[in-house]
Amino acid sequence: MTPQAKISILQHLIQIPSVNDHETDVADYIASLFAPYPDAKVEKVPFAKHRDNLVVTIGHADGPQIGLCGHMDVVDPGDVSAWSQDPFAGEIVGDQLFGRGASDMKSGLGAIVITMLEFLEQQTPLKGSIRLLATVGEETGEYGAAKLTDEGYADQLAGLIIAEPSGLDNVVYTARGVIDYKIISTGKASHSAQPEKGVNAIDNLMKFYNAVGPIMAKHDQTDPVLGSLLHNVDLISGGEQINSIPAQAELMANMRTIPAYPNQVIYDELEALVAKLNAEPDVQLDLSYSYPEEAIPGDPDAPLVQLAKQISDEICGHDTKIVGSGGANDGAEFLRAKADFTSIEIGPGSNTSHQVDEYISIKEYLQAVEVYKALVPAFFDSLD
Ligand SMILES: [Zn+2]
Repeated sequence: MTPQAKISILQHLIQIPSVNDHETDVADYIASLFAPYPDAKVEKVPFAKHRDNLVVTIGHADGPQIGLCGHMDVVDPGDVSAWSQDPFAGEIVGDQLFGRGASDMKSGLGAIVITMLEFLEQQTPLKGSIRLLATVGEETGEYGAAKLTDEGYADQLAGLIIAEPSGLDNVVYTARGVIDYKIISTGKASHSAQPEKGVNAIDNLMKFYNAVGPIMAKHDQTDPVLGSLLHNVDLISGGEQINSIPAQAELMANMRTIPAYPNQVIYDELEALVAKLNAEPDVQLDLSYSYPEEAIPGDPDAPLVQLAKQISDEICGHDTKIVGSGGANDGAEFLRAKADFTSIEIGPGSNTSHQVDEYISIKEYLQAVEVYKALVPAFFDSLD
């Protein structure tokens, strides 16, 4: 495939505004690229209306399987007038290709798709199979990856490469998990001149707030790469008006976990605290979670990690760092599968992800294809 053809695939991907929805349009476009190759097995796996995951499998079915993963959703472009380029045009200025998703992560998605297309085009003999796992809803909770994992699409994986924008000079082998939780405190309204007739939901919420910080602070193990467990209450609201005892109040907290503390440890502590406070008179607290993700432990010496570094060093001429990530990725879901495998993140990217004037270096995008094309066969060889 010519460099121009690779660039136009990326432009086409960016021109589909899959802002937290409509990933099916991306899936259909990618499926159309595989249409000339009857040996490619193409499956759409619905998550919701207009939201299909796409799975494409090529290669030698009897051998080991490597997954290439990219999400098809992008975040909102924000104030479009603040952009110097149309966020959904795929404009090119010099080496920079602009657009929402240029970095996170339609360039990575394009690069893994092109890697597979070139293997097909060049009839490259493969010792195993390659499975494209193109997901929906990564930005808002990895629920496409969750769906694919639940349906068994990761059960044969021997390794997983996620083309998230680490920059090709970073390979991510471990990542923090996430727990977002919400506490709703329900009280009883009354005139604030007669507080004894009501139950103050804010006062009860504060009991939780004051107790949870010290409980979370007791988790003092520090991960050498990821750091310590993080707990922050980031949203709080409550009350109805100034002269009424509040009937409702709520808070939301964001936790960034580390492998030393599996999410269940945290759930147990939060639930125990809520149960203890609910045993007090008039306290009614309800706890809920939204799309929690486990931390990814990872081994920096795993063959897939080391090969990714060596190959990226050779192809790009830089010194690739082996690092941890503060954010969760689709790998956290895929690792729930029956298979035992290493999941890494390495992909083209700039420091403009989720920002105005997001762009990708065209040179880096094209290099990413070369990295994946070398990494896949090298990984198969490492399993011999
Ligand atoms: Zn991403």
